Amino acid sequence: MDNKVMYSLSYGLFVLSARRGDKDNGCIINTAIQVTARPNRIVVAVSKDNYTHDMVEETGRFALSVLSEEAGFEVFKRFGYQSGRDEDKFAGFQDSIARGTDGICHLTRYVSAWLSCKVVSATDLGTHTLFLADVLDGETVSSAPSVTYAYYQQHIKPAVSPASATGKKRWICRICGYVYEGEVLPDDYICPLCKHPASDFEPLA
Ligand code: FE
Repeated sequence: MDNKVMYSLSYGLFVLSARRGDKDNGCIINTAIQVTARPNRIVVAVSKDNYTHDMVEETGRFALSVLSEEAGFEVFKRFGYQSGRDEDKFAGFQDSIARGTDGICHLTRYVSAWLSCKVVSATDLGTHTLFLADVLDGETVSSAPSVTYAYYQQHIKPAVSPASATGKKRWICRICGYVYEGEVLPDDYICPLCKHPASDFEPLA
């Protein structure tokens, strides 16, 4: 099968956030869709590698901020290019967040809307968990279009120079644009950002 067939599917981009005790965290996800209107339910697929995954699993609550075309690369870097295990992703971002009645932080800038959700069921997908959730609250924030993965690839993700300062070979993740540098790309390599496998990388000429 041509694995590129999968690139024809379209996705949005979202900040999934949760709170456990005094700890706030959030991560970027690309899989969130409404599945029923009565009751109003969505599903989100979250990689188990994300710290936020464990917080959602344990608390059964999350907020979903729907990123808009106004979100710059800094927002994606903040929530996607570092781990909540090491960093407070909301630090220095107070002017762009608010806390819902559920106590969970959502974005108030760079988003078209946010939702507050309560998990109904969790399905183990191996690398990911699929959470089915009731939408309990939410607000439209902006009329700016919600960002699609294609828009992010074309207009937000910075262009990568094929030249490496260290002279090493480089491979780029077709999914998120992460660049791996080294002599060989290991077969079992997993993209640290989007968690896609080595087969989704291509060499930078
Ligand atoms: Fe990636």
